[in-house]
This record gives sequence, structure tokens and C-alpha cells, in this order.
Amino acid sequence: MIRLLPERGGWLEVVCGPMFSGKSEELIRRLRRAEIAGQRALIVKPRIDDRYDIGHVVSHAGAKMRAVAVSRPEEIVGLADGYDAIGIDEVQFFADEIVAVIERLVERGARVVAAGLDQDFRGLPFGAMPELLCRAELVDKLQAVCHRCGGPATMTQRLVDGAPAPADGATIVVGALDAYEARCRSCHELRTVELSALAR
Ligand SMILES: [Zn+2]
Repeated sequence: MIRLLPERGGWLEVVCGPMFSGKSEELIRRLRRAEIAGQRALIVKPRIDDRYDIGHVVSHAGAKMRAVAVSRPEEIVGLADGYDAIGIDEVQFFADEIVAVIERLVERGARVVAAGLDQDFRGLPFGAMPELLCRAELVDKLQAVCHRCGGPATMTQRLVDGAPAPADGATIVVGALDAYEARCRSCHELRTVELSALAR
């Protein structure tokens, strides 16, 4: 497989996959390499995600790079002015306007690396991710290791009190005491909601 990137102009790279697949690690690796090459690099992340450390992107493996937390996608346009490479972590948490914002950055000539979950805990497309995957020049879908069987994991298992989360649970629960595991499709579980319970 031959993968070439444009020699001029901007482009979009998407790094997706389940939790624990090393997305933040890969984002940091790419942006750091750009910095080493003398490019100006910036990482932004949604303000919603303040785990570990505000002001940094920290991977589960411990890699760390400073990041600016923003509330709305529109803020990124001004922040990213003058940067050659712009990393966006947890891109699935941003509102749909993130697609137009990224297009603007790319048109301006920037290299944008967007990392995030491609699926929510139900296995459904997450936020603007499907749109970004479609528009990207380069896509990498990372795999984790299934917590159950040790096979390649592409899904995120959400557990509430140790049991599979109900299908009608809230999609975004940041900082909650829910536990998450990476799982393969066969081992992924979803507690289906009784129709009678929904009717009540
Ligand atoms: Zn499995």
C-alpha cells in the first residue's frame, strides 16, 4: 500500500479507534516530530475533557504535550493562526461545527491531525467522526487489545457497576466512575433496554 501526503497545501489526517488504542500517543508522536522538524505545532482539546491534567494532552502510556482547552470549535481558528501543524484530541466531543473549522484550517495550508473515538460505547458513529473520516487525506484506525480474549479490539466497552452499560445510557459521561475496557466485536456487550421499561 502506497501512502503519500501532499507536498504543498494543507491536509487532514484522522487517527481513530477505541479507548486504550494509543490515539493520544500517536497524536503526540506526530506533532512532536513536526516540532523537531522546526514546524510550529499546536494541540487543542475540548474543555470537557480535563482528566489527568488541564493544559496538556496526556496519553494512557504517560506521553505528554501541552494543549489548549477550548469550549467551541470556532475558537480554534484564531488560536491556530500561524501554526503549521494542528493536533485536535478527543475530536468526537466537539460540536458539528468542527468539520467546517478543520476545512478552514486545511484551506489555509495547515496540516491537521484529528484524533478521537470513531464509535461510542454502543458501537455507533461518534459525533463528527464519520464526516471527518470521509474528508481526510489519511486515515488510521488503531486497534487495542481485547480485555476479554486478547484479540484485536475495535470497540469500547462501558461498564456500570461491573455490568455492561444499558443501550439508552448517556453517551458522554466524563469523569464518571464508570469503567471502560477495549473489546473486540464478539466480546462487546450492551444491555438492551426492555421495551416495557421505555414505555413507562
Ligand atoms: Zn474479545
